Amino acid sequence: MESFHQPQLGEAVSAQESAFRYTEPAPTDEVMMEQLEYLLLHSRSGRHQWCAECARLENISRHLLSPFG
Ligand SMILES: [Zn+2]
Repeated sequence: MESFHQPQLGEAVSAQESAFRYTEPAPTDEVMMEQLEYLLLHSRSGRHQWCAECARLENISRHLLSPFG
């Protein structure tokens, strides 16, 4: 039991810091996902006519799906 390594406070902190540094998502990814989620939820909330938000979603969907079309 004497050989059991007890991590010190300093080690734990630096491990957390490096994990944070390497797993932090790119800000553009987050913004993109948030925007897309917002527009999808919006479009499901009902029928909209001449709605700018719905037009944005339609525009984005067309671009996103064009490589698969
Ligand atoms: Zn709408």
